[in-house]
Amino acid sequence: MTRLIFLGAPGAGKGTQAKVLAGLCKIPHISTGDILREAVANQTPLGMKAKSFMDSGELVPDQLVIDLMRERLSQSDAHSGWILDGFPRTVTQAAFLDDLLSEINQLYNYAVNLEVPDEVLIARLLGRGRQDDTEDVIRRRLQVYREQTAPLINFYQTRQKLVSVDGNAPPDEVTADLKNLV
Ligand code: AMP
Repeated sequence: MTRLIFLGAPGAGKGTQAKVLAGLCKIPHISTGDILREAVANQTPLGMKAKSFMDSGELVPDQLVIDLMRERLSQSDAHSGWILDGFPRTVTQAAFLDDLLSEINQLYNYAVNLEVPDEVLIARLLGRGRQDDTEDVIRRRLQVYREQTAPLINFYQTRQKLVSVDGNAPPDEVTADLKNLV
């Protein structure tokens, strides 16, 4: 059973690679960013709470994403495996995920860190043209990543679950490296 957690800075290619690998493995690609953007577009209560945080490059409060993921991982398609993209993003979320998975008797294989140099990240994000990809917001998102999400590298290393992949290689090579893990 394939269950992977994708780590990496904004612009590291998590979304692109998670989508490809999930397609190959025929398991759901679960992206909190995609779920939140859809909630914003549909103006659901979740979307209304999340919007201002997302627009400014801040993280949405832990409790909102924790509730969202508890529900998403209990859906039937998630019983055959999954790739998580963009969750967890804080140590609180990672600790919650460990607790939830032991509660529902699931184990993840690895936390995969896609490594990409900062200057490449910024160039990629500026070229992407998403609504939350203006230069100020990009800078803030990278800062938030360093402060709140990068500590997860150590969190998973301590648990001997961390695998690093060169995210600056051509996309096909990154996919091939990831395929070797599953
Ligand atoms: P992403 O598409 O993963 O870059 O996420 C876009 C935005 O959604 C982020 O900048 C955050 O505002 C919010 N977001 C996504 N996932 C999380 C998470 N796990 N915790 C908090 N905020 C999140």
